[in-house]
Amino acid sequence: MQDIVTKEGFPYSFTPSACATCGGKCCTGESGYIYVGKAEMERLADFLKIDVEELKRDYLYKSGYRYSIKERENEGNYECIFYDAAQDGCTVYGARPIQCRTFPFWDYYKTRVEELKRECPGIVDV
Ligand code: SF4
Repeated sequence: MQDIVTKEGFPYSFTPSACATCGGKCCTGESGYIYVGKAEMERLADFLKIDVEELKRDYLYKSGYRYSIKERENEGNYECIFYDAAQDGCTVYGARPIQCRTFPFWDYYKTRVEELKRECPGIVDV
């Protein structure tokens, strides 16, 4: 079976096997927001075996009226606090937020395919 994911309405496809070689570019690089809602917080807290208040205190920060996942800064680069290259990437993969699950099929990228290609080596033209 071919390793290609397409989604109606998007002008590109995605090859998930590229994730094995890219070094987590979608979880690192420029600073960004990874928003988590209430149900996602509960899922993350369950996954980490902590309560939601601990999750908020240790792993999230408030941005306006929403919560986003904290980042670590390293010489001008940023990475999600849950990203660990030594552990092959996302340490909360089974409970990662919807924003992470739906990458690279974000409306934002529909008209920014070249920008997305720089971010993700798994993008192919349809
Ligand atoms: S939660 Fe996981 S998949 Fe999402 S940005 Fe963080 S490390 Fe990446």
